[in-house]
Amino acid sequence: MGRFVEGEDRAQQVLLPPSLEDYVGEDNPVRVVDVYVDELDLAELGFARVMPKATGRPAYHPSTLLKIYLYGYLNRIQSSRRLEREAGRNIELMWLTGRLAPDFKTIADFRKDNGPAIQAVCAQFIALCREIGLFVKAVAAIDGAKFKAVNARDRNITRGKLKRRIEQVETSIGRYLQSLDAADAQEGDVAEEKVGRLREKVAAMKAKLQELKSLEATVIASPDHQISLTDPDARAMATSLRASGMVGYNVQTAVDTEHHLIVAHEVTNDVNDKAQLSPMAMKARSAMGTDTLDVLADRGYFSGWEILACNAQDISPLVPKPYTSGAKAAGRYGKDDFLYDPDENAYRCPAGEMLTYRFTNVEKGQTLHSYWTTRCETCALKPHCTTGPFRRIKRWEHEGVVDAMLKRLNGMPDAMNIRRRTVEHPFGTLKSWMGHTHFLTKGMEKVKTEMSLCVLAYNLKRMIAILGVEPLITAIRA
Ligand code: SF4
Repeated sequence: MGRFVEGEDRAQQVLLPPSLEDYVGEDNPVRVVDVYVDELDLAELGFARVMPKATGRPAYHPSTLLKIYLYGYLNRIQSSRRLEREAGRNIELMWLTGRLAPDFKTIADFRKDNGPAIQAVCAQFIALCREIGLFVKAVAAIDGAKFKAVNARDRNITRGKLKRRIEQVETSIGRYLQSLDAADAQEGDVAEEKVGRLREKVAAMKAKLQELKSLEATVIASPDHQISLTDPDARAMATSLRASGMVGYNVQTAVDTEHHLIVAHEVTNDVNDKAQLSPMAMKARSAMGTDTLDVLADRGYFSGWEILACNAQDISPLVPKPYTSGAKAAGRYGKDDFLYDPDENAYRCPAGEMLTYRFTNVEKGQTLHSYWTTRCETCALKPHCTTGPFRRIKRWEHEGVVDAMLKRLNGMPDAMNIRRRTVEHPFGTLKSWMGHTHFLTKGMEKVKTEMSLCVLAYNLKRMIAILGVEPLITAIRA
């Protein structure tokens, strides 16, 4: 082996450092995990078994198990079986737990039984960041990402999928029955055997059809007309990739634009982000401890009612309007080509005519005012404006709030770049940690706990990067 770097002889007697402490450097992140968990009031946070039982086998203290999980999520070791293995061979983990090595079931049960308490620890860490004074700028970016559930696409059933499957089975039954008629007309042992086989197939298909029809009633009875058989809380979700979908959860995060810390998060099974703006903004504001808050979000969050709800809470949303104008798509003037004059309560059209207020009605729960002019018939721009006898513009009763927001957004051309830069960082990190974005647990409550551990690990890592290990330990102990 000459001319290569050579290792030591295994039989060579060596003097290794005498204590575990010597293996863990002063700037090792595991020291933050140790101090952070030791400083928590686990009983107040709601952890079970903080006090030992008077009788029976001594249990592991929740702080030991919480440290194991936090270390695991910081180091991309999320599964309880892998954590059990690591606890017996990983020197950092041995240092952290004092060489305790619980079995995988004890580790998994801890996560299962302490969901709300683990979620409270995640929120507590943001409270610590707030006390350190990190949230001076009250600006947060909100975004959502889809994470896969433990539920294959075939095990998610929607009305459309069920209808297609029933049609396929009915077609198959018809084909088998035809073959059965043909085989019945023949004679001999071979034909008899074939008839027997076909009858079995028809019976199996009929049983399948029965099963699908009984599922149909469950699908129709569910509020969003779909069911997931492995994880009942997971939902079929469209993703940004064309023609692709997944069965999973929609995870919402609010991230502070200055330090990229996830100040609030929520796991939902809503298939889109339309109803998430104000709940997430309010969660973020309370976590950051500010009176007001600017929130940046993408077009998927645009909803008049949500913008109104934010305004009512002194939260300033900045959300671009989606491109949904049918007229614009057809090459005609869109509504934004018409300027609203609040003094006149009228719209000025591209031809300079005033579209005056006509009447008010209610559509889909929204009170809408209608405006038009009688000059359209003679207008030279009419082919670019409307295919009807005249152009009508509708205005929501609270549209002034939306207009004011869009005006504010126009004055901040960098807002959407800041949004993108802010939210890409945590989601990129979380997705790469979670090994291509799937949860390990089933059911909303367990998935929420898993996400809280991921977010807590991300925020810990971020704070270590911002402050450094020793200053962060000092801040935690303060
Ligand atoms: S068609 Fe009517 S609304 Fe459109 S530009 Fe002409 S006058 Fe104005």
